[in-house]
Amino acid sequence: MQDHILIRYGELALKKSNRNQFINRIISNIKRNLKDYQDLSYENRSLRFYIHLNGTNPDKLIEILKTIPGIHSFSIVSKTLETIDDVSILCKTLLEEELKNNTNLTFKIETNRGDKDFPMSSLEISKEVSIYLFRNIPNLHADMHNPDVTINIDFRKEGAFVYTNVIEGMGGMPSGTIGKASLMISGGIDSVVAGYLALKKGIQLDCIHFASPPYTSSNAVQKVIDLLEVLTKYTEYQNINLYIVPFTTIQKKIYEVVREDYGITIMRRMMYIIAEKLSIKLHNIAIINGENIGQVASQTLESMATIEEVCTMPIIRPLATLDKLDIVKIAKDINTFPISIRPYEDCCTVFVPKHPQIRPNKEYSKKEESLFDYEHLIDEAVQNVEKITLYSDKHHLYIGEENIF
Ligand code: ATP
Ligand code: MG
Repeated sequence: MQDHILIRYGELALKKSNRNQFINRIISNIKRNLKDYQDLSYENRSLRFYIHLNGTNPDKLIEILKTIPGIHSFSIVSKTLETIDDVSILCKTLLEEELKNNTNLTFKIETNRGDKDFPMSSLEISKEVSIYLFRNIPNLHADMHNPDVTINIDFRKEGAFVYTNVIEGMGGMPSGTIGKASLMISGGIDSVVAGYLALKKGIQLDCIHFASPPYTSSNAVQKVIDLLEVLTKYTEYQNINLYIVPFTTIQKKIYEVVREDYGITIMRRMMYIIAEKLSIKLHNIAIINGENIGQVASQTLESMATIEEVCTMPIIRPLATLDKLDIVKIAKDINTFPISIRPYEDCCTVFVPKHPQIRPNKEYSKKEESLFDYEHLIDEAVQNVEKITLYSDKHHLYIGEENIF
């Protein structure tokens, strides 16, 4: 009966000029994600895509489809001939199925006539089918405003499709159509959510984490790995590269020589310089982080301006204006929250001054930086970056490989 999945594209429908390129990309992403289900076959129609189940149980497929950026929504549908009689019979069967669970349910029919050559209007189709249902199912109740079940009928040239469910997809844009950026990832709540929102927009990610052993433990890195494993399922090829920057020497130096209230400002300037250098080597065109306006001293507008002046690359802050509660909600929805709240020290929390600057000055920051040979330390840190490639079901470890770039 329910023999197809109908996929709807979201905002990419608006992108007229490169629509085809986007659609081809999302279709190849869908096929790659479902490659283990060999009985499926596919049908591409304008702005819609059908998966023929050919007997495959759709439950597992539903979970996978929810992780593919660019899918707006999808439905498990039944297909029949594009005639009122065939559609009426199919609607009766579907409705009777629903009535088994609730004999008092109310229904409504909604028709979409994609085939403009069909000689009846949407309203006429809905009416005809409703009349048939009332004649053939006893004690049936319609409710136009708040029905328990909406039967959707889609009249298309390729056939008529009937369904009662609409499953929300991830939305956004297909992976691989927007370009690649670097995500600054900590073990906290925010940055992984920023990464998720970037992936949803179709951006590919390399991740950069600053570690300060022994002040931060290997558990802190493990936390980042666990967070990123969650994100891999939203990526095009189910993998993410993580670059771990040894940051201890720089942090200690800052702690020793920089005026205490400027410690965080300078530390974040160093992070940005390193993130930009790595991004250039990785051919990434932007830096993404989890900064949120006003959250802490280093995230006031003045701090952001003073910190980001060390870079020329665009800095994207997907969470900039969100409330923390909304960020937490996303973190809970994608299941990163329980990992993020595990209690391990992050490099930012180790050397925190009592009263960090909330209005750091650019000139003064440069003066403080000139107190140590940071360029040399930065080059050394970049040379000693470690790379870990994470896959959604397993991870490979490459530690201290030479010339990873
Ligand atoms: P929290 O939920 O605790 O705020 P956070 O990851 O947002 O976690 P912040 O101190 O607010 O932590 O840092 C702001 C941003 O700076 C982060 O979202 C992240 O993008 C980046 N960042 C912080 N610490 C690190 C780190 N150790 N490695 C890489 N990026 C970091
Ligand atoms: Mg934060």
